[in-house]
Amino acid sequence: MTAIHPDSAPQSSTSQGTHQKSKAMKPGSRRPAKELCSECGLCDTYYIHYVKEACAFLNQQFDDLEEQSHGRQRDLDNPDELYFGVHQDMIAARKTDPIAGAQWTGIVSSIAIEMLKQKKVEGVVCVQNTESDRFQPMPIIARTPEEVLAARVNKPTLSPNLSVLEQVEQSGMKRLLVIGVGCQIQALRTVQDKLGLEKLYVLGTPCVDNVTRAGLQKFLETTSRSPETVVHYEFMQDFRVHFKHEDGSEETVPFFGLKTNQLKDVFAPSCMSCFDYVNNLADLVVGYMGAPFGWQWIVVRNETGAELLEIVRDQLETQPVMSKGDRKAAVQQSIPAYDKGVTLPMWAAKLMGVVIEKIGPKGLEYARFSIDSHFTRNFLFMRRNYPQKLAAHVPEFAKRIVAQYKLPDDNSDS
Ligand code: FAD
Ligand code: SF4
Repeated sequence: MTAIHPDSAPQSSTSQGTHQKSKAMKPGSRRPAKELCSECGLCDTYYIHYVKEACAFLNQQFDDLEEQSHGRQRDLDNPDELYFGVHQDMIAARKTDPIAGAQWTGIVSSIAIEMLKQKKVEGVVCVQNTESDRFQPMPIIARTPEEVLAARVNKPTLSPNLSVLEQVEQSGMKRLLVIGVGCQIQALRTVQDKLGLEKLYVLGTPCVDNVTRAGLQKFLETTSRSPETVVHYEFMQDFRVHFKHEDGSEETVPFFGLKTNQLKDVFAPSCMSCFDYVNNLADLVVGYMGAPFGWQWIVVRNETGAELLEIVRDQLETQPVMSKGDRKAAVQQSIPAYDKGVTLPMWAAKLMGVVIEKIGPKGLEYARFSIDSHFTRNFLFMRRNYPQKLAAHVPEFAKRIVAQYKLPDDNSDS
């Protein structure tokens, strides 16, 4: 691979190891992807040398990286691969003995713990939180089950997971598991052969609508009755946001009642321009949105992913994935609402939530609903703000998904 020096990255470069290195950027400095940077952490390391190729926001390269990671590109004519990427299996699962305090039932943490216990890896890249702030991410290389467990639950903010990559190479570690979201995994896939590893396992989660720490504060303050006591939240399949508070109580807010006019600019520009919702390059993906309420949704992309799942099979209850309903009309109607930041009065939002939960899309159709709504919104964001990047940045699968809908004219855009 030929390394190209980024225009706005530091210019000193050495090749002491088996690859090129450049000086990491200072915290807080403007990154090569500028406002589209998702703070994935790569630029905090000497692997910044490869940023022009590796950055998910500078170089969209799904086709090449699918080939490299899974041995083939997705079949765009297979409806499930169009939406969910290259895969050999999809199931719904939950832990028979859930991990307390995990985001869902703790399948991700359980896989990582078992990988360490069975000595299949020497370390796990995951993200704990800082002592003073439960939502401030602190990426680490966990070497014990206890350290993995301490990283359970989402830190729903941009997290520089790749900032620990230099430590991987310097430690001489040969077998590694990385847990991460799509933008982190895209950059990782580009530099993975520079890390000196014999085996890399990649365990991904889906990711959408992420925010900076300040953006998260705004979201909590606008949406929850008690922002300071929230320990966990999730946008769930029943079309409600579920907040869990310190005292164990739960609060739900219907999606349609969110103050979208105030929240319009809260999502990070990186996430408004992302089309890697389902973490296309991970070996195994563990989310929830393609599964019935209370279950997790698992996508096995390749043999390495199958090995990761197998290691916790005896801890899981499983069922086949299902799909019910028709999302298309609901997506089409949501486009202007998302776009213009319409907020319904709370009584109407609750009513709409109840109706849509009864008759709305379920299982994989719910996942398609969420993908369609976000891809159409993000396509409009790109078209409006980065028209010169649109053609190269939006992957073919996303173009086909968006083409199913009628989008507002640019002339009527605000
Ligand atoms: P746990 O066992 O609790 O482990 C969670 C793991 O996530 C930990 O290992 C930790 O290292 C890692 N992690 C936490 N925060 C971050 C972060 N900011 N960046 C990278 N890694 C992190 N699933 C869907 O199906 N649809 C969605 O729309 C969706 N959105 C998500 C948005 C974000 C920002 C994140 C982080 C995840 C999202 N997920 C989504 C995944 C889902 O919420 C769960 O994380 C997943 O199902 C695993 O649950 P678990 O109980 O097995 O995880
Ligand atoms: Fe660097 Fe990652 Fe930001 Fe791209 S997203 S500029 S690779 S830190």
